[in-house]
Amino acid sequence: MSYGIWFDVPLTCLNGHAPLSGREARLFTSHLNPEAIDRAVHIGDVLPLATNDFEDAYFTIRSPGDDTLILIIEQFDCPVCHRAQWALIEFERLGDASYRLRNVTTVPLTPDVVRGANFISRRMDIWIETNPDDAWIAELVGELRR
Ligand SMILES: [Zn+2]
Repeated sequence: MSYGIWFDVPLTCLNGHAPLSGREARLFTSHLNPEAIDRAVHIGDVLPLATNDFEDAYFTIRSPGDDTLILIIEQFDCPVCHRAQWALIEFERLGDASYRLRNVTTVPLTPDVVRGANFISRRMDIWIETNPDDAWIAELVGELRR
């Protein structure tokens, strides 16, 4: 059983609504935190995460292997235009069960961005069902292939 992590960081909306405070953007990943609480994290915070925690919480695009930097694409909704936005979350590995939140930025959902990431939101399966133009993502994400 694991709990969620709120990324309390300022974000931009690519439709021109910025800056959004972390509380407005409400960027959240369920089932990522191995601690028995939901918690808010800020840039620079160190979390007791292991690689398999990321594999449980997200779909895997490319296994990080020995990379010290883990790149994750997670979804949030702009509170102004209510359109889905995509955040690139960067974690730096400090040890076997220790990762530091390094950066979070809003990115467009393009093939280069998806190919460059290690993990992508579990909400992606519902996103593809309702946004068939983005079905190409399933070709890049092994677990999403049908
Ligand atoms: Zn917006």
